Amino acid sequence: MDHVDNVNNGDWTHVFEIFLHGHYLDGRENFMILLDLAQQAGLNPKWAAGTGGGEYHSPCPVCGGKDRFFMQPSRQMRNCRGSYRCRQCGIYGDTIKFAQMILKYPFKEAVEIVGASLPDNQYHSIFRKKIAFITRPMPPALWLKNASNLVEISHRHLLDQSPLLADLGLRGVSLEVIKKHKLGWIKESKFYARDSWGLDANEAHSQLWMPKGLLIPSIENDSSVVRLKVRRCDIAAGDKLPRYVMISGSMGGMIILGSIHNKIAVVVGSELDAYALRHLVAQTVSIICVGGSSKNPDRLTDELARKANTLLICRDNDVAGEKMFTKWRALYPHAKDAPTPVGKDIGEAIEQGLNIKEWLLNI
Ligand SMILES: [Zn+2]
Repeated sequence: MDHVDNVNNGDWTHVFEIFLHGHYLDGRENFMILLDLAQQAGLNPKWAAGTGGGEYHSPCPVCGGKDRFFMQPSRQMRNCRGSYRCRQCGIYGDTIKFAQMILKYPFKEAVEIVGASLPDNQYHSIFRKKIAFITRPMPPALWLKNASNLVEISHRHLLDQSPLLADLGLRGVSLEVIKKHKLGWIKESKFYARDSWGLDANEAHSQLWMPKGLLIPSIENDSSVVRLKVRRCDIAAGDKLPRYVMISGSMGGMIILGSIHNKIAVVVGSELDAYALRHLVAQTVSIICVGGSSKNPDRLTDELARKANTLLICRDNDVAGEKMFTKWRALYPHAKDAPTPVGKDIGEAIEQGLNIKEWLLNI
């Protein structure tokens, strides 16, 4: 009975609940481990209801509060017993995930502590499914070829646009950065037949749109152009289309710049900010560019974010940026909020004279 007394503060309803549902007979291996772990995390959970064999509330280990964190220690999950969820920041998972994410146990140890046994091939994949890690397919060969040609041509066009080069330079995207990442200029908005890029066509999507604007390619180490984005110009009032357009057929995923072995990782929203930042601090930090504030990390990004001692979320100074931080914090409790002290984003901060390197290293 000792472990029951441990957690229920003498509430007999709860003990009755346990007998009623037979969970007490399960033995310690499969029972209440989540509550032990929660104690280890200093959460001091309180019994709140009989739901799911007993529900406990406590402050959230990520976002604090008083009783927003719900635990159901005896709920049968796919791989173990026990589940948790925060009503505020939305983190959730099973007991294995709690051990790993909150208490920082290595995955294998987390599985052992919980007494779960998983088939070998599951060791690397069970939670990852939850945040939808997808192996991204490469774009079709024809797409790769067209993209590569377009990058070469539009890069030359950009080098002719002196006023634009000057503007980019002000926000940290220097000529060196432009040449290194082969940024380009699409002179005119254009529609291509999808099949001319090797993409399937259907009635809803019969054309590939290449808007006028700054072309931002993602180029792999083997020099294949796997993703094209355009930062549109000439956006008229009332234009509902996004400022950044990912060109159809581009490979999804995030861009990682700089060595992946750095102890500091910085997450930024836009490619331009990432390229500017890389130029300034690539020796000391890894840069994860999410390309839009709402995206989830993929497998490689997840590994990098976990391994980094310091994970700075350089999000935009706006509502979307705040949401981006909440999301990363929920996945990685060691993530730190790091919006620039001036300007909306890194580009604007550089424009306003912020010494980015000094600022980052001081956080
Ligand atoms: Zn929370």
